[in-house]
Amino acid sequence: MARQSPLAPSATQLRLLRATASFPPFEVLMEQAGLHPLRATGITVFQINVGKLCNQTCRHCHVDAGPDRGESMSRETAELCVRALAETDIPTVDITGGAPELNPNFRWLVEQAHGLNRHVMDRCNLSVLLLPSQADLAEFLAAHRVEIIASLPYYRAPQTDAQRGEGVFNKSLEGLRRLNQLGYGKPDSGLVLNLVHNPVGAFLPPKQDAIELQFRRELRSKHDIEFNHLYTITNMPISRFLEFLVESGNYEAYMQRLANAFNAAAASGVMCRYTLSVGWDGTLYDCDFNQMLDLPVGLGVPRHIRDFNPSQLEQRTIVTGNHCYGCTAGAGSSCGGAVTS
Ligand code: SF4
Repeated sequence: MARQSPLAPSATQLRLLRATASFPPFEVLMEQAGLHPLRATGITVFQINVGKLCNQTCRHCHVDAGPDRGESMSRETAELCVRALAETDIPTVDITGGAPELNPNFRWLVEQAHGLNRHVMDRCNLSVLLLPSQADLAEFLAAHRVEIIASLPYYRAPQTDAQRGEGVFNKSLEGLRRLNQLGYGKPDSGLVLNLVHNPVGAFLPPKQDAIELQFRRELRSKHDIEFNHLYTITNMPISRFLEFLVESGNYEAYMQRLANAFNAAAASGVMCRYTLSVGWDGTLYDCDFNQMLDLPVGLGVPRHIRDFNPSQLEQRTIVTGNHCYGCTAGAGSSCGGAVTS
């Protein structure tokens, strides 16, 4: 947005994604798989995107987040989220951003959701734990048993820094050490620390089990760091990664690669089927990716958290498009209900 990239407006991204000269429309493959139109199966994850402010500016960020972004969930909207949550028994609250911890209402949201006995997940970029203003953040998260989902593109500095910024790898390790010291990632502590790997380039991710073993071996032997699980996610062809694909001449080939890897089993389990995603201004979406493309939930169901109606929303038809190929390629990319920023 700040660079005034021609692809910054979501409408331009959608126009590009809709031109399908070299790959079939997503809906065609979904129809063949018996999954069109795609329908929600319920709501077990209540995802709250509290805004686009972040202390990092990662190259592949699907949120186009950064230190200069002012979009931020207000207390009033956060209260509407908690009120909606309290009306339901949705078990999981998934808080994302930006760096969600930088929102002034983040800790209040965690306390409220924890008080309602919901499992809380935080999409943490790790370096935020080192900010002077967040000196007690790790202890706060541990005290509220918050599950941490942390992006770490690779277990070596060059690849991670190339994607997330100079020096981010070492800061990430420092953040992981702090979490480990509190028990995160350690057996029997009940404090869950999961990592997320995404490819550094226009590739599909490797098999999850194999890369998890590599991450565990390298982080343990070289840095004495422990974690619970590693998720692999596919880079979504939206926002900054879409810009990268176009500028590097990889767009068509990448979309064909995703379409060729379409997996009906992955398609039937995509996270939008069990997630409701709330934007920083209270608008409702099927997922965080649709949120970034300004594609709210379909017509005929409430579109703002103030009008929350679980019985209508849990049976809604999902708004899909060609970006959805990023969720259905190979083993899928739902990351345990997780989307990292
Ligand atoms: S991009 Fe969103 S709507 Fe599309 S399949 Fe993935 S989770 Fe569902």
